[in-house]
Amino acid sequence: MSEIKEILVATGNPGKIVEIRAMLDADVRWLGLADLPPMAEIEEDGTTFAENTRKKAAGYAKATGLCTLADDSGLVVDALGGAPGVKSARFSGEKPKDADRTLIDHRNIAKTLELLKGIPEEKRTARFVCRLCLASPGEILIETEGTLEGLITDREIGQNGFGYDPIFFVPELNKTVAQLMSEEKNAISHRGNAIHKLKPLLDELLKTGL
Ligand code: IMP
Repeated sequence: MSEIKEILVATGNPGKIVEIRAMLDADVRWLGLADLPPMAEIEEDGTTFAENTRKKAAGYAKATGLCTLADDSGLVVDALGGAPGVKSARFSGEKPKDADRTLIDHRNIAKTLELLKGIPEEKRTARFVCRLCLASPGEILIETEGTLEGLITDREIGQNGFGYDPIFFVPELNKTVAQLMSEEKNAISHRGNAIHKLKPLLDELLKTGL
């Protein structure tokens, strides 16, 4: 039995590490990819969120020898057969770099709205999905999934958030996600939901060790 002392979060996005760390509140040292010497990036080229997170978590765990947590998320629109899905970040054709993320977000939104033109409200059902996977260098340890159900609007509403938030309407709150404050979003979001499910499983694993 060996104790888990460090967990690598397989992301270069410091915001995600802060969020995951705060919500999981576990007695380990959290590392991001930026804390390690540069290594080859593992491509998110799977056809499902599960495939992508397993590939990233297992790949970085093998490369570093550390237990690794990977996430993948996106928007699934029923009337588009599940698109943009795993292609959410690059739906309009380009993989965003940090500098032009807002422009790409707008293009992705424009493409989604164009494809849904004429589709009535009751058929505009969608969900945000977040998948998490924790792997050791030898095996997949924990997998969880969180979702947020909603409807795609016919125009952008609200200024907050990122990605598809301005066109994702949450009926229970009568608002789009871009009209929510970040605490309100975190309380209901797919990511919050997936992290919340992971917490008891991680706490148990940290108690027993590998
Ligand atoms: P990733 O998991 O950070 O690679 O996210 C993939 C893409 O899914 C993002 O670039 C967004 O386009 C979309 N996405 C994921 N989560 C959210 C969210 O909470 N709001 C809006 N868009 C999201």
